[in-house]
Amino acid sequence: EFTRVHEMIAASAAPRPRAVAVIDGTARISWKTYARLTEEMAAVLSGLGVGPGDRVMIVAENCLAVAVTIFAASRLDAWAVPVNARMSSAELSRIEDHAEPKVILFTSHVSKDAAAHAGALKAEKLHTDVGDLHVAARRGGAPEPLEPGAEQVAVILYTTGTTGAPKGVMLTHGNLIFAARASRDLRRLMPEDHVYGALPLTHVFGLASMLMASALAGCTVELATRFSAEALYDALKRGATVVPAVPQMHAVLMAYAAEHGHETLGSERLRYVSSGAAPLDPAWKRKAEAFYGLPLQNGYGMTETTAGVSGTQNVLGDPDTSVGPPLPGVEVRLDESVGNEPGVGEVQTRGPHIMKGYYKNPTATEAAITEDGFMRTGDLGKIDGEGRLHIVGRSKELIIRGGFNVYPPEVEAALNDHPAVVQSAVVGKKLDGGSEDVLAFCQITKPYAVAEEELKSFVKERLTGYKRPSRIFIVEALPAAATGKILKHKILDTFAEMVA
Ligand code: ATP
Ligand code: MG
Repeated sequence: EFTRVHEMIAASAAPRPRAVAVIDGTARISWKTYARLTEEMAAVLSGLGVGPGDRVMIVAENCLAVAVTIFAASRLDAWAVPVNARMSSAELSRIEDHAEPKVILFTSHVSKDAAAHAGALKAEKLHTDVGDLHVAARRGGAPEPLEPGAEQVAVILYTTGTTGAPKGVMLTHGNLIFAARASRDLRRLMPEDHVYGALPLTHVFGLASMLMASALAGCTVELATRFSAEALYDALKRGATVVPAVPQMHAVLMAYAAEHGHETLGSERLRYVSSGAAPLDPAWKRKAEAFYGLPLQNGYGMTETTAGVSGTQNVLGDPDTSVGPPLPGVEVRLDESVGNEPGVGEVQTRGPHIMKGYYKNPTATEAAITEDGFMRTGDLGKIDGEGRLHIVGRSKELIIRGGFNVYPPEVEAALNDHPAVVQSAVVGKKLDGGSEDVLAFCQITKPYAVAEEELKSFVKERLTGYKRPSRIFIVEALPAAATGKILKHKILDTFAEMVA
């Protein structure tokens, strides 16, 4: 039915024009207003010469204007390029040079970082306080209606950059509409739902599972400009019903709750909590379920697969550590020629969720997608007897120590089990002679003082010899993306002095 993402806004506005579509700070925006702002923003962009195929970059932190601009670009057959304002100016310039946007919007009214970047980039600039949009829109004039175009590109999203420089992924309207439907159906999103939007709209999980799924379901999404445990706790107390997050957000919330003596949440309204985008530690899952009083759903996906590949069933206390069976309409297989362990292979996936390709990089696209249309995820996994997928680690991050495989997520899980550890990152360090050393970096909760020796003896009971880190460094913070995902390839550089 839908072939462009903005059509979902009009469809949700028609039956419930006055219902709340977006909460942005203290503002509550109705579906009718949301639809009007989208048209007005389209007129403004059109007035600036934006047309089919042009890129509209948004230097963003979550706010209404980001959502409106993404849908407005769809209205013009233009491509939205939402990038996080928290990136360094060097990273943003690199993306600007790559995406060559016709205009760049800065969410300066909510983001100091965006305001600071606004001075530095080259393209035509537009600020995004949507308050006076109708005046500017009159100058633009209403754009022409569009032909159906599910196969057209809707956005370029840059990958997190966990393993190297972020890659520009072209996602089509069809990709996003499929992902919105899959995510809505998995969570059974209803118009009455209040989704708490802490995930950045610049990342695929926030864009697809939060913004697009809510647009399709016609429910309310509350956009949090920046994640904070305190704000999330407050939203839960105010009655948020659905919270999609990355595991690190749950972990930080658990640390916050423990610090403030909140053992359980006790919300009558909360009904669905999920984790995705990074490995979900079994210890975190247990702690989070005890706190929320609800199952914590685990979803696996990547930017190139428009988020959802697979997701677990929602059962409280389920000891399952898989990422669940493939979503309906999604195929998954293993390529065992990649993993050097029986039963383990590279996860490959095919279906309507697979990207159109990497922008301006046909060579990388060709390398990533097999001849028969499967995406090579770079993740190592297993499939169990029930057809559930287990992610054991990334092939790029696999540590080979004295001939044995060490999967960082397993070592991180052992460390995270310690009550003083908020989160940890385990990386390999090449040694002379080809073997690798296992190094761990742990962020500790505030009231605790814990020493390396204590953590070492703690993991000794949990891990066999070759998996135990030879050093465990206690650090204040780990290098992270705007989502909270840990940037593994920056770890050794960040802590170079400690490691040396
Ligand atoms: P880059 O590709 O730039 O190195 P990235 O792969 O981290 O960064 P994303 O597209 O944000 O960029 O993340 C996708 C990756 O996140 C997956 O390939 C997988 O490694 C990991 N991931 C996502 N969901 C899960 C999950 N539920 N469990 C384990 N790992 C996950
Ligand atoms: Mg990746």
